[in-house]
Amino acid sequence: MAAPDPYRELRDRLIDAELLFPTGVEGLYGRSQTYQEIVAAIDRMVHRWGTELKATAVYLPPVLARSTFNSTNYLQSFPDLMGSVHVFRGNDRDHAELVRRVETDGDWPALLEPGEVVLSSAACHALYPMCSGRLPLGGRRYEVSGFCFRHEPSPDPARMQAFNMHEVVYVGDHDVAQRHRDEGLVHGLGLLGDLGLDVTPVPANDPFFGRLGSALAAGQIEEELKLEGVTPICSEDKPTAIISGNCHRDHFGLPFGIETDAGEVAHSACVAFGVDRITVALLVRHGLDPAEWPGPVRAGLFR
Ligand code: AMP
Ligand code: ZN
Repeated sequence: MAAPDPYRELRDRLIDAELLFPTGVEGLYGRSQTYQEIVAAIDRMVHRWGTELKATAVYLPPVLARSTFNSTNYLQSFPDLMGSVHVFRGNDRDHAELVRRVETDGDWPALLEPGEVVLSSAACHALYPMCSGRLPLGGRRYEVSGFCFRHEPSPDPARMQAFNMHEVVYVGDHDVAQRHRDEGLVHGLGLLGDLGLDVTPVPANDPFFGRLGSALAAGQIEEELKLEGVTPICSEDKPTAIISGNCHRDHFGLPFGIETDAGEVAHSACVAFGVDRITVALLVRHGLDPAEWPGPVRAGLFR
């Protein structure tokens, strides 16, 4: 008999409880009212923090301008994770051929063309073109949230293809950006700890693609550009990242022409809450019925 798979087991429990609804594609779920209320409460929690920081809130669609995507360097580093939106721009004759191919299981996507948008890979990407030009003295803080897409189909219910991300971002001076990440991640870990989650900060790397990717990943770890807060969801040995803190340096400031008030290339940093992963972590930690969660957790979250 095959060994039990804790990832599939948890996915099945969440589906049996009708918290998540399967769609037939791994990592793509419908969400129940109960699940969605947890998501909304986490979003409100991050928003309260953003308000304290005087961050401008921006709610984003799940798609990103292709022109913005082209400047993020995402394709160079993570070609296997991205998703592109394609559209039909043909005439009547092309339409007839499209329909014929659909009805005969033919290659109809070959008749589509790239649209003006791609699927958003990270909430903060949409922000940088909005910051082009000279920033005010002291830089700016934003709070950005929305659905993201990453092509990483998995039976792990905490590894979705479409998931919510809520980030608190700073754009401006390099030392303030570093502090934003360092202090912001500590603050975020505190918020998650108050929800009864056992979260540990660890140095991390992004999953850079290919042979060159491992060198980039090693550099990222060595320079501590990425830290993650991990908590056990399906496995004590392999805890899951539910929050990350990222120093981008001038990775976005340079291609998007963002300058500090002093005319230097702006640095940026973000603290990203994985809202769906936090939701799943809470359901695992406190039980599948939020009405039964400990009073202080409910009082802290659902306000
Ligand atoms: P990253 O940009 O990879 O640091 O992602 C920010 C946060 O989003 C991570 O800390 C995770 O909590 C969450 N996240 C990343 N990938 C996924 C995924 N495939 N499914 C659900 N949440 C994710
Ligand atoms: Zn970000």
